[in-house]
Amino acid sequence: MFNRRDFLKAAGASAGVITLGGCAGGSGKATGHVVVVGGGYGGATAAKYLRMWSNGSVEVTLVERNSEFISCPISNLVIAGEKTIADITVSYEGLKKWGVRVIHDDVVGIDAEKRKIKLARHGELGYDRAVLSPGVDFMWDAVPALKSEDAQSKILHAWKAGPQTVALRKQLVDMKDGGVYAIQIPKAPYRCPPGPYERACQVAWYFQQAKPKSKVLILDANEDVTSKKGLFMKAWNGQFKGLIEYRNNQEIQDVDARTNTLKMSFGDDVKADVLNVLPPMRAGNIATQNGLNNANRRWCQIDWLTYESTAVKNVHILGDALQIAPAMPKSGHMANQHAKVCAAAVIALLTGDVVNATPMVANTCYSFIDDKNVVHVASVHRYDAAQKTMVTVAGSGGLSADANRTEGIFANSWARNIWADMLA
Ligand SMILES: Cc1cc2nc3c(=O)[nH]c(=O)nc-3n(C[C@H](O)[C@H](O)[C@H](O)COP(=O)(O)OP(=O)(O)OC[C@H]3O[C@@H](n4cnc5c(N)ncnc54)[C@H](O)[C@@H]3O)c2cc1C
Repeated sequence: MFNRRDFLKAAGASAGVITLGGCAGGSGKATGHVVVVGGGYGGATAAKYLRMWSNGSVEVTLVERNSEFISCPISNLVIAGEKTIADITVSYEGLKKWGVRVIHDDVVGIDAEKRKIKLARHGELGYDRAVLSPGVDFMWDAVPALKSEDAQSKILHAWKAGPQTVALRKQLVDMKDGGVYAIQIPKAPYRCPPGPYERACQVAWYFQQAKPKSKVLILDANEDVTSKKGLFMKAWNGQFKGLIEYRNNQEIQDVDARTNTLKMSFGDDVKADVLNVLPPMRAGNIATQNGLNNANRRWCQIDWLTYESTAVKNVHILGDALQIAPAMPKSGHMANQHAKVCAAAVIALLTGDVVNATPMVANTCYSFIDDKNVVHVASVHRYDAAQKTMVTVAGSGGLSADANRTEGIFANSWARNIWADMLA
């Protein structure tokens, strides 16, 4: 069992008011104990803002399996060789200054009745409320050959930033000039709608510099480009003409990892020198294993005022794991915004305060076309009480007119700012 001394050691917390087992039965000064699962865009933001906006009265424990945060946004630039993995890695140390106790471990279970989170190595943590932002996991059944670890180490997704990002970069560096890089995109919804098209542009830009006889093939299971269509098409028919080929309705049945071949649902198999497959996605395993995936057994439904699960009480969910509201992308910016609405609501629920009835969130998603020129899409979403969901605000948001260098500067600043907002 995880005792108080272990807890302080693991979390590196200084002595103070520590309430384990939640405040439901505790007697500390704290207003409550919140356990946050997952220290990505949603979870890290929630942990910090729960501490900041409660003036330190809510005890917060963040459980994250990775020792450092590595950002998916900007990771396509690592694949293109413009940035390094160190450039997109941020320490969790900054959260400790806000009094967040950070434990690096895997959450393996949730006992909703006893309000306990089970960890792989550190025993159990009691909670008054839990906040989950576990991101996505892959539906390997849809690509059966990729269930083997061996196949997964050869045919990469690089859709969670980290070792796979570095490995995909290496595959491209090792590829002969004149080779083909193919990226296969699953049917929406998936994490980051414009991300695969940005990656195709980034790989094409790298080929222009280093391997000009090579080609990029986009095999999209969707009927059409799912985001920033006009802006991406302009690049594919302009600066990358003859280098990028786009094909729609390209669903796959499986892969052959030995021969680097895609087995298409319709039409001939496709072979590539570097094959990058994004399997269909669903809410992170910890959500699906604990009955929180109550939308098509794939995504999690919540009350958009509090982010509390509609399946399990006292458990709040954020980010990519959600069944999205209409026109709401699965993005890091969006997860960061969910986290702030949720943090405010959880503090209100713990202190008997009133939950904001009119939350509003915004999203901006930048995509790098080459090393300097960038495009964006933006939107604003507000709560609609009649429909009990978030709807886009009429006339809000928009798209870049063209790829441009000014937005290249904005995009890099966006990343630095959001990492600081989450983690500093
Ligand atoms: C190539 C690419 C480019 C992108 N570009 C952009 C962009 O430009 N702008 C943008 O806004 N978004 C972008 N995104 C999307 C963005 O990365 C995601 O939408 C965002 O990460 C979602 O946040 P999250 O908190 O839901 O999940 P994540 O950020 O993935 O965080 C989940 C965390 O939970 C941890 N975790 C999961 N399960 C457990 C467990 N059981 N125990 C312990 N820890 C656990 C994971 O280790 C992870 O750290 C991009 C994504 C990709 C792949």
